[in-house]
Formats: sequence, C-alpha cells, structure tokens
Amino acid sequence: MLERLTMAPPDPILGLNETFRNDPNPEKINLSVGVYVDDTGISPIFSAVREAEKIILKSEKTKSYLGIGGTTEFGCHVRELILGAEHPVIQEERGQTAQTPGGTGALRVAGDFLKHSFPESRLRVSSPTWANHANVFQASSLEIRAYPYYDPKSHMLRFDEMLDVLGNDTKPGDILLLHGCCHNPTGVDLTVDQWEQLIRVMQSCKLLPLVDLAYQGFGRGLEEDVAGVRRMCSRMDELLICTSYSKNFGLYNDRVGALTVIGKTSKDAVRSFSHVKKMIRSNYSNPPAHGGLIVTRILEKEVLKNMWKEQLDRIRKRIQEMRRMFSMSMKERDCSRDFSFMTEESGMFSISGLEPPQIVEMREKHSIYIVGSGRINVAGMSSSNMSRLADAVISCL
Ligand code: PMP
Repeated sequence: MLERLTMAPPDPILGLNETFRNDPNPEKINLSVGVYVDDTGISPIFSAVREAEKIILKSEKTKSYLGIGGTTEFGCHVRELILGAEHPVIQEERGQTAQTPGGTGALRVAGDFLKHSFPESRLRVSSPTWANHANVFQASSLEIRAYPYYDPKSHMLRFDEMLDVLGNDTKPGDILLLHGCCHNPTGVDLTVDQWEQLIRVMQSCKLLPLVDLAYQGFGRGLEEDVAGVRRMCSRMDELLICTSYSKNFGLYNDRVGALTVIGKTSKDAVRSFSHVKKMIRSNYSNPPAHGGLIVTRILEKEVLKNMWKEQLDRIRKRIQEMRRMFSMSMKERDCSRDFSFMTEESGMFSISGLEPPQIVEMREKHSIYIVGSGRINVAGMSSSNMSRLADAVISCL
C-alpha cells in the first residue's frame, strides 16, 4: 500500500536550507533558518554547556528513564527563570512543569492537553505567526483562527484591531496563543502598557493564555523579555507557558523545552498536570534526559549561570548590532526604502518587506536565501557579508 502515497510537501524553511547547503557559491548567505549563528557563521556551543557536560559525564550513574514530566529540579529552574524566584505563583506553588522534547514538544503536549480537556475551546493565533504553529495545533485537532497582529506595510502592530477581535469575536474558554517575546516572524512585541490592556481583555472575555516563550534573553534582556509574561502570571489565574532552550542555551539538537501549567490554586495545577502527563505517556512516554540535565546544572551553579548569562548577553548585542548595521548600510546607499524599523525590533527575526520576485532574485542571482514570507534571520548577517547583502538588496528593489 505504500506505493499509493505521493510525496508530502517539503517543509518550506528546512527545504530551503537544504538548497542553501547544496549551493556551491562560497559567498552564499543564509537568512532563512531559525538558528543563531555567530559572526563566523557557526552556531556555537555555550562554554557553560561544555562545562555542564563535563560535570554530567563525571557524575552520571544511570541512563534509566526519567519520570513522565522530567525531574522536579528542572521544573523548579524553569519556573524561576520565567517568573523570578519571588513570584507569587512560585511562592503559592501554583505551577507544574513538564520537561519536553524542545519547545515544539511543549506546544504539542499543550495542544493535546487542551483539545482533550476542553474540546469546545478554539485557538487564536497571531497573523502572522511561526509557520509550525499551524502544523502542531492541527495535529492536536484544535480549531485555529487568526487574530490581527502585524501590518507589513507600516511594520507596526495592529494593536487596536487585535483587541477588537479578541474582545468581540471570541467566546469564554477560547485559547489565545501569545509570543512571550521576540515575536517570530515579525520581531514586533507588545509594550508593557499594551500587555496591560491585553490582560484586561483576556480577563473580561475569559480567555486562556498559551504563551510560546522560545527566545528569552534574545530581545532586550533575560528579565526584560519576560516583563509581559510575569504581569500576566500576576494578574491572571490560569495560563500555560511553553518554553524552549534551543536558542538561549544553544541546545537545538538536544531537544529540551518545557510546558508549565499555572492554576488558580496549587490543587488545580496538580490536577491539570495529571492530564498533561497522560498526554505525554501516550506520545513519547518520558523526555530525553541530557538537555534537561545541562540546563539544570547551569542554572543551579552560580559560576556556570553567570558564564551562560555573559554569553547570552554577547549574542543579544550582536543581533542588535547587525540590526543597526543593516539599517545604516541601506541608508548609506540612499536606499529608496527605510529599514530603520529593524533597529526597533527584537530577537532574530524581522519581516524584510521583500516581495516573492525579489526573494527569488536574491537567491538566484546573489545566493542569498530568504523564506517566501520575506522573514529574515538577522543573525545570518555578519560584519563580513553586510556590504554584499546591502548591495544585493539595493539591486533587487
Ligand atoms: N516557538 C517559536 C516561536 C519558535 O521560533 C521555535 C523554534 N524555531 C519554537 C517554538 C520551537 O523550538 P524548538 O526548536 O525548541 O522545538
């Protein structure tokens, strides 16, 4: 029966990455894939990760299974990193955390849990959002609808329209997917004041926030990036948070992430978590240990934690510097388009505004790879490729 199958469509982003790999041009530039690379084009291993791995290698005594939700220690560190140790949610023990295979695993477990427990609830996602959100939540059979978020012409948030739709076209119990920081693909985040307004709408319409937090530390700072999420956790009784450690610990292929469920009471959280565990058991049974161990070893040891924070700071500064350099390079070339919006945005991604024919020309003429939506990964820029990149954009506009 297998002969009856036709090819499934390739993943648009990972498929393009393969074409990039096969491109023989030594000056090719990859702005498509969602991985941080340094100025030399390498996705580095954090020094703190190397140190933690040495400790693990020395002390590890067994490869036996972890529990369904991973270790308690890991869960505590995850909640502290998101919320800060003094947060009432932690003090009142209203959060339960499962270690998951990456942020994607967390989103899928959350999707399964929500569909299973609240089959009538619909999911609202920003327009646009990370392309894989639709795949993941469709796989969980959730009904997905979009809410206005970003205007590609002005590169601004469509905040009033967003509140209007959420306030008037949702029903109690609907789920609202929010990017905690460094919105992918736009790089445009809510201000603290906008988070406040959104919280009021979510409260009055009884919406359940589902936060995707994949880039803590990549935007303005480890604490700054979660200001909105912390406010939500203070002001709302219930929410779900999916975190990824692929980017901010550089642990892409160790597949480490977490799903944190916050309830109105500690008992609510424990009961909800029993259903989360049921979903995990029938999916991948229990999480892989290594990535979670690395994160735990780093966050529990002050020296390693500081080492990690310093490297994360450098990464963030490099991204900000590339944003500034690109905008300047376009200005110096008297570009007809203003790219200064990019200096205001957060994280690795921005919507370049390049149209599909220009994207094709960039790839075919200049070996510069950008995904079809025009999203660019700013980390793919470097001090050595900036001038070639800017010239290519000018020639395509
Ligand atoms: N959410 C968003 C917004 C992302 O960009 C990503 C990674 N590209 C993820 C979740 C998933 O991360 P992971 O690689 O840890 O599964």
